[in-house]
Amino acid sequence: MSYLRKIEYTIVPEESFKILRNCSGCGCKAVFHNTNCFRVNANGNKIDVWLIYQCIKCKHTNNLTVYERRRPGSISRQEYEEYLSNSPELAFEYGTDSHFFTRNKAEVEWSSIKYIIKRQNGMLAEDNQLFHKGDLIIINNSYALKIRTDKVVSEILNLTRSRIRGLKESDVIIVREESQEHKIIIEIKGEIY
Ligand SMILES: [Zn+2]
Repeated sequence: MSYLRKIEYTIVPEESFKILRNCSGCGCKAVFHNTNCFRVNANGNKIDVWLIYQCIKCKHTNNLTVYERRRPGSISRQEYEEYLSNSPELAFEYGTDSHFFTRNKAEVEWSSIKYIIKRQNGMLAEDNQLFHKGDLIIINNSYALKIRTDKVVSEILNLTRSRIRGLKESDVIIVREESQEHKIIIEIKGEIY
């Protein structure tokens, strides 16, 4: 593949993912949000840590397991202190970690996900950016957000989805998804504006 310019983007969540769970308060499936509060239970020589989620309607809580029955020595003092002090950074780290939700069998509520697309030099995708023939655009979806590829492509190229479809059909742009690596790659083969 030959290209003249390589431009990289990263998709970054703006807030913790919300999850869908059965709520005992509401008596049905409800949306829970991350309270950014940890619950730590140090019992003898075992430590349990949970991240507390809360139903957005009735405020019932639901704990997701961070650590279960861990030896105190296996968690660093600093990390332990961060759980005790409800570190917002650590809560965000877990709250945007797809593996954490998979481990907890929690269903992420993807439809409300808020994200920004950052260019490698710190520019936002919506900042005026023109693309030309020979550009190779790599979009890293490192957080594995379940968002539509055509939506992301449309946001980056700043063109409507139907225009994108037309450009793809006429091979002016080529869009590839590398799902294993959570990447979307766009090759610009002609003029798109
Ligand atoms: Zn509820």
